[in-house]
Amino acid sequence: MSVLVWIEQSGGSAVASCWEVLGKGRQLADELGSPLVALLMGDDVAAGADAAQKRGADLVLTASSPTLSNYRLSAYADVLTAAIREANATVVLTSATLRGRELSAAVACDLSAGLAPDAVDLRIEAGKLVAVRSVYSGNILADITFKSDIQVASVRPRSFPLPEEGAAAGEIKALDVAMDEAAVPEKVLESKSAGGGEIALTDAERIVSGGRGVAQDPELGFKLVADLARVLGAAVGASRAAVDAGYIPYKHQVGQTGKTVSPNLYIAAGISGAIQHLAGMGSSKLIVAINKDAEAPIFGRAHYGIVGDLFEVLPALTEEFQKRLG
Ligand SMILES: Cc1cc2nc3c(=O)[nH]c(=O)nc-3n(C[C@H](O)[C@H](O)[C@H](O)COP(=O)(O)OP(=O)(O)OC[C@H]3O[C@@H](n4cnc5c(N)ncnc54)[C@H](O)[C@@H]3O)c2cc1C
Repeated sequence: MSVLVWIEQSGGSAVASCWEVLGKGRQLADELGSPLVALLMGDDVAAGADAAQKRGADLVLTASSPTLSNYRLSAYADVLTAAIREANATVVLTSATLRGRELSAAVACDLSAGLAPDAVDLRIEAGKLVAVRSVYSGNILADITFKSDIQVASVRPRSFPLPEEGAAAGEIKALDVAMDEAAVPEKVLESKSAGGGEIALTDAERIVSGGRGVAQDPELGFKLVADLARVLGAAVGASRAAVDAGYIPYKHQVGQTGKTVSPNLYIAAGISGAIQHLAGMGSSKLIVAINKDAEAPIFGRAHYGIVGDLFEVLPALTEEFQKRLG
């Protein structure tokens, strides 16, 4: 029996939210009295394996092959399944990144295991995993229990703190898996970074989002959103209405059909607070709403509300934060 955490690599380094999951995995493993196993896959996993040891893994399984240099579901699912068998894992965790969600779902399906996607908390009860999911736009926290022996969950980024690095302990072991490039049906022809140096929404500690409220001058509106985001070191988000209107690309969309985010600070400017938007940001730790309609539903979820015109409020906030933050 063990707790297994997949440490996703992107651009040669580990995705930060996976360390949060590893930290929580350490706690669960201690409660279960079982080892904590980290799995790294890629063409160069040495640095990640070392970091996994320092962040608390008892055993680090590695699968290093040119075939794994790019994420491809079928190849990664085969290796994760092999790792689950090797580690005799009963709790299998990934971060709920796009890849983590996909991989956990595929492997749970292959192994006929129960799956709790996008969990916001995890605990052990009577030797079994209980995953907590935020449903109905965060209005209800639902406990998910498992009937299967293997219990799989993906964990929403920023649900747990980053574990401190300590002295490296434990063991690193290469997984014995034969990778056959010809057997992998997906081919990666080209990779392009969509970020362009921007802070990724799903990893962001702070997000400033704009909605249809910018309609009178969308270009200026999103410039004001981006100005405040820059001063705060925040990512830029948007409502679907703003995306559908072509004010900003889809990659910025937050909500049911966009990204799910959980930052420490979420500033919503000119966003009404439709349930589908709340579904993507309702678990933010601190929500600030700027809306000229005092009756807008977003104020029902905001911790702080500013009733006003975003074209006046955003520059005023930017100026004030700039003064205070330098
Ligand atoms: C299946 C489905 C999936 C969906 N998925 C998503 C999703 O992922 N994400 C998402 O966001 N939506 C999603 N939607 C759409 C959602 O229902 C709403 O239509 C959308 O969120 C509204 O965006 P908005 O708040 O920007 O626009 P509106 O609802 O039009 O609100 C604009 C707000 O701006 C305010 N405002 C106007 N001018 C100003 C100003 N100058 N200063 C300050 N405030 C001003 C108005 O008072 C209003 O409250 C989905 C809908 C469906 C049916």
